[in-house]
Amino acid sequence: MTPGVNGHPLHDILEPVWQDVLRRNPAEAEFHQAVREVLESLGPVVAKHPHYVEAAIIERLCEPERQVVFRVPWHDDRGRVRINRGFRVQFNSALGPYKGGIRFHPSVNLGIIKFLGFEQIFKNALTGMPIGGGKGGADFDPKGCSDNEIMRFCQSFMTELHRHLGEYTDVPAGDTGVGEREIGYLFGQYKRMTNRYESSVLTGKGLGIGGARVRREATGYGTAIFVQEMLKERGMSLDGRRVVVSGSGNVALYAIQKVAAFGGITVACSDSDGVVIDEKGIDFDLLREIKEIERGRVADYAARRPGARHIPGGAIWDVPCEVAIPCATQNELTHHDATTLVANGCLAVAEGANMPTTPEAVRAFAEAGVLFAPGKAANAGGVATSALEMQQNASRDSWTFEHSEEKLTEIMRDIHRRCAETAETYGAPGNYVAGANIAGFIQVADAMLALGLV
Ligand code: GLU
Repeated sequence: MTPGVNGHPLHDILEPVWQDVLRRNPAEAEFHQAVREVLESLGPVVAKHPHYVEAAIIERLCEPERQVVFRVPWHDDRGRVRINRGFRVQFNSALGPYKGGIRFHPSVNLGIIKFLGFEQIFKNALTGMPIGGGKGGADFDPKGCSDNEIMRFCQSFMTELHRHLGEYTDVPAGDTGVGEREIGYLFGQYKRMTNRYESSVLTGKGLGIGGARVRREATGYGTAIFVQEMLKERGMSLDGRRVVVSGSGNVALYAIQKVAAFGGITVACSDSDGVVIDEKGIDFDLLREIKEIERGRVADYAARRPGARHIPGGAIWDVPCEVAIPCATQNELTHHDATTLVANGCLAVAEGANMPTTPEAVRAFAEAGVLFAPGKAANAGGVATSALEMQQNASRDSWTFEHSEEKLTEIMRDIHRRCAETAETYGAPGNYVAGANIAGFIQVADAMLALGLV
């Protein structure tokens, strides 16, 4: 057993797999981090089920089925030629068509898309829906772009990507920088290029073009539901709890709304410019208007909300809370932040974003007995509701908000239960990271075995 980047020892059988991942994927730190975390969880599984090892299931899982990297040329409003790099990593299709979002952010590179695609395999498996794992994006910065520039970029991006998609092949959705507007432009271009109104080739569509109710809310709602389940199991609840949510995008916004519905008070959220603190509890309607309608910043919220304060460049995790919900981006919550949260009496953390907590921070929470829900489980409500959108598109149906929300709640409770039970079975009671990784792995691994060596 040897320690690695994430610090926990690896089972001997998994050491060569890990070394191989490092060798074949140089300089992809986030991908290494995501793989390492899963490998660290799989020790008891390979010890108990050697047939996964014999069939090289783990090596196969770590190698994407297909990776597409392409040039995205477009004209900005000044008529200048701009070039970005587009990606789609089709990681694993054992359970269904590749499924996962598209991220537009200047930090995007192949390693980031691979980490997200890898996590998506397990997350999607946990939803219990028939969806494989994939992820895509571009190193395009939508900040400050006009609506026309966004549209031209989306059209150019889809002009290349369309040949790799299909409702039975690969079904993207949104992620950071990609919301309903972008999905609409992407779908419009796909429709034009293929001459097919293939609704379920993309999810997260607007309601007028085949979108599903609750998809917009689903990731944030699902994360809050997961927190409520974790607390409920221990005789507690979100009612009256002080909550801090990082970020202020789609996931953060709807986590804040659902936390409030459970009686919790979100006292702070953030964006890349700083933190807003609102001791009375963030006013969801005002924040929604600023973010969704005006495409504004949290500083605008503070300016319009009596009593709220904006701290430019502030550290969100310095704000004392009982429940922390990181909804911004990968590795935003460090060991230092975790120590601060623990000292301030934090009792539960749930990842609304993908891998927002560094391995050192996860360890600090474990040592302090803080409940910790990994993104694969806690933020799976978004992709689960995407699968419900595919289901509605396939049957040319459209469900009510209530029915869709009921389905989401059921799915989140089921994910919570599976993670908790699996952790218990494999000797790690209360460890949702182990539970999520093992439960997701077994489901995908069994499907891969059934499909033969493909
Ligand atoms: N980007 C979201 C995620 O990280 C949703 C993906 C989807 O709906 O396909 O899970």
